[in-house]
Amino acid sequence: MPLYDFHCRSCAHRFEALVRPEQGAPECPACHGRDLEKLSSGFAVSSAEKTQAAAAKKRKKEAAVARRDNIAMDIEAEKHRLEDH
Ligand SMILES: [Zn+2]
Repeated sequence: MPLYDFHCRSCAHRFEALVRPEQGAPECPACHGRDLEKLSSGFAVSSAEKTQAAAAKKRKKEAAVARRDNIAMDIEAEKHRLEDH
């Protein structure tokens, strides 16, 4: 269900409304006007937040993997050093 932010041009009220295709455009809950401006949708904002959270999680995971690889390389280097002597 698409959730949209609306701005009423008649009374400057801002509100969120679910838009059902069969009901048509919503009306302002404050003044019942229909001179509404559709703003960026709440759905789009929440999915953008989700994408950002996923990207942050991915970066964290990549950093953890990089650290583990560094440790593995250190162990390998140490082994070679010991073998040389
Ligand atoms: Zn209004």
